[in-house]
Amino acid sequence: MLKTGAQYLEEMKAMRPNIYKYGKLIEDPTTDPITAAHIKNVAMWYDRSCDPATQDLYTTTSFLTGERAHRWNTIMTKPEDLVGNMDMKRDGYRACGSCMGPCCAGWVIMNALWSVTYDMDKEYGTDYHERLKKFAMFAEEKALSLAGAITDGKGNRGAGAGAQEDPDLYLHVKEQRPDGIIISGFKTQICGTAGAQYVLCMPTTGMKPGEEAYALACAVPRDVEGLTIIEARRSSDTRAESEAEGWDGIRSGTTAAYMIFDDVFVPTEHVFMNGETKYSGKPIGQFSTIYRSCIGACVAGQGDVIIGAALGMARVNGLSAKPFQDRLNQMAIHNETTYGMGLGSIMKGKNHPSGAFYPNGLLAHANKVLVGTLPYEVKRMAVDIAGGIVETGCMPSYKDLTSPIYGEKLLSALQGAPGTKPEDRVKMARLLEWLTIGGGIPGCMHGGGSPDTGKLVVRLSTKWDQYVDYARALADVEAPLKEEKKK
Ligand SMILES: Cc1cc2nc3c(=O)[nH]c(=O)nc-3n(C[C@H](O)[C@H](O)[C@H](O)COP(=O)(O)OP(=O)(O)OC[C@H]3O[C@@H](n4cnc5c(N)ncnc54)[C@H](O)[C@@H]3O)c2cc1C
Repeated sequence: MLKTGAQYLEEMKAMRPNIYKYGKLIEDPTTDPITAAHIKNVAMWYDRSCDPATQDLYTTTSFLTGERAHRWNTIMTKPEDLVGNMDMKRDGYRACGSCMGPCCAGWVIMNALWSVTYDMDKEYGTDYHERLKKFAMFAEEKALSLAGAITDGKGNRGAGAGAQEDPDLYLHVKEQRPDGIIISGFKTQICGTAGAQYVLCMPTTGMKPGEEAYALACAVPRDVEGLTIIEARRSSDTRAESEAEGWDGIRSGTTAAYMIFDDVFVPTEHVFMNGETKYSGKPIGQFSTIYRSCIGACVAGQGDVIIGAALGMARVNGLSAKPFQDRLNQMAIHNETTYGMGLGSIMKGKNHPSGAFYPNGLLAHANKVLVGTLPYEVKRMAVDIAGGIVETGCMPSYKDLTSPIYGEKLLSALQGAPGTKPEDRVKMARLLEWLTIGGGIPGCMHGGGSPDTGKLVVRLSTKWDQYVDYARALADVEAPLKEEKKK
């Protein structure tokens, strides 16, 4: 089924309030300034699914039902589905300026678990895959927005889940019941939780024998009893948060949250892994190939807006593209590099026997390293082009700009090119401030996992000795040039 933005907003209003910020309960996340911009943006993605002009970008034909569905409710079974994922996100970033977690992370978890549940059932005779299939059909039928909770509290990073003093540092099964499980623990920095109707959970890393309680994957309603959500808010910048938002306020945003699971009941039908330590590291492997290929398009989409805002600033400052063309070219090249690398990893991907399609791991992980680097360069060049007004603390607040005492004069000080108003300059600068040093920065560095894990996969997947052999053959070197393995 397809849902409109209005239907989505209505359903969001009906959810049990369980999101807090500044120590207070947010009664209605669809109107509270902490979460409203994000939820409005998610509604926009629903509307773009129903708009004939953008429908093909945001929807596809479901592999399970043959019906048209929002992309984020479907299983991706062919390269075109992954390319569709990328292109939807690039378009979404261009329209909203930011990332929409509930149309991404839960979807990717569902796809990551597709192959893992299939393999577990083959080995253990369990019925996880059938449960996941039913959940996927339920998500499609209800056109659900789905957040994805992977990152546990983790505590001492030098020790595993089972070695933490507080078991809650990793989400775990506290009690097995005939009809389901009771779970407890923390998931942290979860993107777009406020806009989600369901949350899919999976392990952040592989578990060892003895850590069965932590080998857990499941789905819960975002407003399930026992779940408390603390919003870290990335909807807007801190300046707009602390000072009244006016015509310069950011109308876009995502959110990130800390989730406290306190004895949450999950019915058996929504449990997709329960103790299988051997398979507990597999979901993150599958998740990261999909996520790390597609995020190339997310950062490219935001990069497109950053280029536009930087050039817009140049023009409102009374300059043309000419003095900045080298930098603008380089920004565009960076955008196309992460986008193209994502496409490349998809072109070299493979189907799993379960039907799900996964991009090539080496290319996807190499892309993660680029995604953790190039967008920061794009932002640096944008600030360079735009001028000091975009740097922290160099733009007056809306309240000052509208002060009855000095507002008019202050605005005159911000006048730019003829044919533009000072307000145009402020608005463009505020957007760029948000995109480069503010809350608009997507999870380039750590979203989807740290670049170090990408480098680890590159190290493990690259055939170093074989490369030396290519060189030895060409250079006619007889010595084997092998490194002795350390004992
Ligand atoms: C904008 C944003 C959105 C996000 N959205 C989501 C989301 O929707 N869902 C979700 O589940 N998560 C989300 N995350 C969380 C993200 O996945 C994590 O931030 C990421 O996996 C890194 O974990 P961490 O922040 O706990 O860093 P840490 O684990 O504290 O890592 C810090 C550094 O230490 C290194 N390190 C950590 N452990 C070790 C070790 N044992 N040995 C050597 N080096 C180590 C890491 O590589 C990294 O360089 C989001 C993050 C951001 C920034």
